Amino acid sequence: MKNIKGYNLEELKQELVSMGEKAYRAEQIFKWLYIEKVKSFDEMTNLSLDLREKLKKNYTMCNFKIIKKQEAVDGTKKYLFDTLDGNAIETVLMQYHHGKTICVSSQIGCKMGCKFCASTGIAFVRSLTAGEIVEQILAVEQDIGEHISNIVFMGIGEPFDNYDNVMHAIKIINNQKGLNIGARHISISTSGIVPKIYDFAKEELQCTLSISLHATNNEKRSKMMPVNKLYPIEELIRACKEYIVKTNKRISFEYALAKDNNDNIEDAKALVSLLNGMLCHVNLIPINKIENGKFTKSSNENIIRFRDYLNDHGIVATIRRELGSDIDAACGQLRRKNI
Ligand code: SAH
Repeated sequence: MKNIKGYNLEELKQELVSMGEKAYRAEQIFKWLYIEKVKSFDEMTNLSLDLREKLKKNYTMCNFKIIKKQEAVDGTKKYLFDTLDGNAIETVLMQYHHGKTICVSSQIGCKMGCKFCASTGIAFVRSLTAGEIVEQILAVEQDIGEHISNIVFMGIGEPFDNYDNVMHAIKIINNQKGLNIGARHISISTSGIVPKIYDFAKEELQCTLSISLHATNNEKRSKMMPVNKLYPIEELIRACKEYIVKTNKRISFEYALAKDNNDNIEDAKALVSLLNGMLCHVNLIPINKIENGKFTKSSNENIIRFRDYLNDHGIVATIRRELGSDIDAACGQLRRKNI
């Protein structure tokens, strides 16, 4: 059955018209789904009984079931959702000073194989559909009874390895008659799938692009991120520069600091010369050690020294606050759990 949450408003209008219904019904359905956040067609009381029956017969609501929910001391909540086909994905709700943010997954598992990430080593199953991406947001909002205004595509999976579904989901999330989350409040993080960076530059979206950089030379980066063998740093930086020229938007580079690996002053110097003159921001992430992982967190002293060096040399850098580490919900700690 087709997932009703997989349609943007225009598509839903066409669906309704092809069923012999008036197009404005789609707006009513959008309101029930994304503003009232109902969980069944029966609750859509301004639709005729006949239409509700037709909808029930042809579409699923794709309501994820919460398999498990954990709350960290800092208020971060981690959800394990049943995707209704025997698989499970994790979604995280984070509490920042400026408000709440949902970190969504884009795939069940991940193919990228980054050596420091907990999503590595568990078999890749499939990409999520647009409707399943949207459902993660709705399911969290329904659970806490609040509307969330910030989304990051930083959960399990590589969003640019599921490009079309992620773009489609953004159109649904964005719609003012629905979830109404502005593109400026959406960030997409990629490990560096270069051709998709060029595609993304053409989308004319106001979303923030984050690039998982983590190292400044190919030897080091390839050891951390196998994707670098396919798209080496020079190609990645060239694509980023073109993205900036085309969109006039700042790129956020993520740099996970691992002890004795990429955290000394020489690395900071190399990062300054690599990013020199680019409209960008560096997000330093104290690396989270994963089970059997060889990368461990840099000392606080090194992290601060690294940040200060960048800031003193013209690169705006901040240290990402670690949220939810006590429930394995911090950066890179999400994994597909078996039910
Ligand atoms: N596949 C995408 C998005 C998912 S990961 C990407 O690679 O960007 C979101 C961010 O967390 C990425 O920057 C990723 O490199 C980082 N990350 C992964 N594992 C981590 C770990 N153990 N510690 C700190 N950051 C990690």
